[in-house]
Amino acid sequence: MSEPVSDEVRVRRVPDRASYDRQVIDDIADAGLVAHVATIRDNTPVIVPMFCVRDGDHLLLHGAPAAGVLRRAGAEGASICVEMTLLDGIVLARSSFHHSMNYRSLVVIGVPEEVTDPAEKEQALEAFVERLVPGRQADLRPTTGKEIQGTAVFRLSLEKASAKVRTGPPVDDEEDYELDIWAGVLPVGHTVGSPIDDPRLRDGLMPPDNVLQLVTD
Ligand SMILES: Cc1cc2nc3c(=O)[nH]c(=O)nc-3n(C[C@H](O)[C@H](O)[C@H](O)COP(=O)(O)OP(=O)(O)OC[C@H]3O[C@@H](n4cnc5c(N)ncnc54)[C@H](O)[C@@H]3O)c2cc1C
Repeated sequence: MSEPVSDEVRVRRVPDRASYDRQVIDDIADAGLVAHVATIRDNTPVIVPMFCVRDGDHLLLHGAPAAGVLRRAGAEGASICVEMTLLDGIVLARSSFHHSMNYRSLVVIGVPEEVTDPAEKEQALEAFVERLVPGRQADLRPTTGKEIQGTAVFRLSLEKASAKVRTGPPVDDEEDYELDIWAGVLPVGHTVGSPIDDPRLRDGLMPPDNVLQLVTD
């Protein structure tokens, strides 16, 4: 098992499920769409969900400059904490105590940096669209300077990051394996349904292949 760069991101409970390996961390960040971003407002932690993408060694966050979470993230030297979790299974044990979940989760702590250069911002904004549908940016009208200016973008280094992964069946007390109680795992997955046309879609337009390729149903 690799070691964290900082005790701030050291998993203490069940440390054998922890990983500080960049590949593990990158894989979770790339598989997730939604992050929970924690900031401090008036000495109280506030957590909000956000769309988050990885760009190399950073996580990217974006939104309206007036969004509270981004204003707090932009405060001089303010640390934030970002979490992403993928739920893979519901673990049903023979006692309530040992019920659990299979998951891949990620926690990143750091001081984010605002991306202000318009070209870098535009690239970052493209990364969000490309995360949703690879290849879609090329199908869209160009982003305007006003849109770029009107969006705040932050990047958070993945240097201080931890992952935690649980897999496999329940772990029951040895004597409980003799009980006549069903136990096991209910796999939980992510599916993407068939596209639903925008009611204002122009006649004759079909979803492009890069959209259809994402459908799993
Ligand atoms: C879907 C899900 C459900 C969970 N349900 C519970 C629950 O009901 N009760 C419970 O006690 N625990 C639960 N956990 C585990 C929980 O996230 C913590 O790992 C656990 O509370 C032990 O934290 P700690 O004391 O080791 O670390 P803390 O002292 O809380 O945190 C220290 C550092 O460890 C790292 N860390 C801690 N947890 C994680 C994680 N999950 N992923 C990545 N990095 C992490 C962070 O960098 C953090 O800064 C759940 C996890 C997931 C993903």
